[in-house]
Amino acid sequence: MATPISLPPLPWAENALDPVISANTISFHYGKHHKTYVDNLNKLIPGTEYADLPLEAIVKATAGKADKAGIFNNAAQIWNHTFYWNSLRAKGGGEPPAALKQKIDAAFGSVDACKKELSAAAVSQFGSGWGWLVADGGKLKIVKTANAETPLTQGLKPLLTVDVWEHAYYLDYQNKRADHVNAVLDKLINWEFAVQNLG
Ligand code: MN
Repeated sequence: MATPISLPPLPWAENALDPVISANTISFHYGKHHKTYVDNLNKLIPGTEYADLPLEAIVKATAGKADKAGIFNNAAQIWNHTFYWNSLRAKGGGEPPAALKQKIDAAFGSVDACKKELSAAAVSQFGSGWGWLVADGGKLKIVKTANAETPLTQGLKPLLTVDVWEHAYYLDYQNKRADHVNAVLDKLINWEFAVQNLG
């Protein structure tokens, strides 16, 4: 019997991001939404060619296949959410480490310009989706994806992400997505995680 896909623990306590993101939001977002994607995937893959694959391989193997959309959506949402939790930390924001700042300055002109572009992408994503800082070869850029779509399957290296599904902010910010995104970028974004992902 294949090992089930697991729900990774959060990298911090549920109230660690309060008040920018409340413990209540994290409790639903992680404990209900993220967990449900894991539960769904573990119902969908037994007996399929994906049953023994690691999560990232399932995401890549099912991307763009209309008849595998259910598996892709749940697998990609598990991967995106785990990546999202690690993109945030208490007392984040501020100045990126020097090696990352140099790449940001080269691509965007300044850290503020990078944040502005990431915020604009996240805020303008129509409906549900994600804003991302990615590496495209040696160059950093901002992309946005819809629903469960992920740069992981687009030849890009994800560095950081912001979830802009309504479940990420509605309990705390209601319709004010921009306020949520800007607070996350100013106070929670985990530049050190981006450095780790640059490799
Ligand atoms: Mn989410």
